[in-house]
Amino acid sequence: MANVRLEDIKRRFNNVTAIEDITFEVPDGEFWVLVGPSGCGKSTILRTIAGLETATSGKLYIGDTLMNDIPARQRDVAMVFQNYALYPHMTVAENIAFGLQMRQVDRKIIRERVETVARSLSLENLLDRKPKQLSGGQQQRVALGRAIARQPQVFLLDEPLSNLDAQLRDDTRAELKQLHAQLGVTTVYVTHDQVEAMTLADKIVVLNRGKIQQIGAPQEVYAHPANQMIATFLGNPPMNIMPAIYTNQGFQIGEQHIFCPTEIQQKLNLAPGKPVDLGIRPECIYVNELLSSQNNTRDSLLTTHLKVVEPLGREILIKGNVPGTSVLLNAQVSPNVNLRVGDRLSLQLDLDCLFVFEPTTGDRLY
Ligand code: ATP
Repeated sequence: MANVRLEDIKRRFNNVTAIEDITFEVPDGEFWVLVGPSGCGKSTILRTIAGLETATSGKLYIGDTLMNDIPARQRDVAMVFQNYALYPHMTVAENIAFGLQMRQVDRKIIRERVETVARSLSLENLLDRKPKQLSGGQQQRVALGRAIARQPQVFLLDEPLSNLDAQLRDDTRAELKQLHAQLGVTTVYVTHDQVEAMTLADKIVVLNRGKIQQIGAPQEVYAHPANQMIATFLGNPPMNIMPAIYTNQGFQIGEQHIFCPTEIQQKLNLAPGKPVDLGIRPECIYVNELLSSQNNTRDSLLTTHLKVVEPLGREILIKGNVPGTSVLLNAQVSPNVNLRVGDRLSLQLDLDCLFVFEPTTGDRLY
């Protein structure tokens, strides 16, 4: 096992800079997830660690060894891809054993290792089948098995669940988490799915346009996003963003005004008239409820016209227009209220979880 350290890694393809200023260190045994929208450079970073891509500049270490000039097959890493990449003419057992045979590991050890891996992934009864006789989920487990059997220092996983249907994806995600707890191998995992990132990671690295936006424990990044891109990327439905104008006492949102608690005013220290983007998560908006916190008075009410009402069992997802703006506010509210499309509704914002962003840069002001 080993830590993985990237120091100022950059990769250019002709005139395009795919990634730059990439610096982070995954400590030995941790599970880190690289997350971000399509094209942000996740796979390029992973492929650089694997040795399938060469960094234009910067240094990559696995353990204490500088890896820049070491070929992929000598890096002792195992990579699992989205499309499984199994050998179609080999059985499940042969696929799992392949990496060990290439290393000329003793036959008896190979047999034992294949059995152990197959047991841990519930593949014991499928060892004689060929990949095309397996479901997508089973094929992905074989691909994981092949990586595990090699007992590498580092696992690299590139969107390994994205070809699976929703249920299988949830199950396999849980299995992956258990496997990591069992094996404790340093893992770098790429996904654009924020649920996978939040549930699997010790730490997430949020990327956008080839650069790191924030690194932190999932809950920490969710609660304290550094900017608007991160705030809206993590969370489903995403954080609501409302253009507003800062006033002496609060924020003007379209035709309405909400009060701004003194402590936020003091921290913001903005001139009245300054445009801002207000952020509030759907779970921080309530109907007909008075919150206990002192920050929440009737001054945090916002009138909306309901456009969408989606009962989801445990909660109702509603979407409502904020008059005088183009904002369609998302809220997850209690199922105990009777709501209909067309209702004029007073929603209460929990000002304890209000975010304020600079509209031009997206930087978080509060
Ligand atoms: P996705 O989630 O869609 O797979 P990603 O975050 O993994 O995207 P990368 O595949 O790392 O993103 O690509 C980052 C950027 O580098 C993109 O703009 C992409 O077009 C570019 N890029 C990647 N590989 C190459 C290449 N071989 N030649 C030219 N440009 C490339």
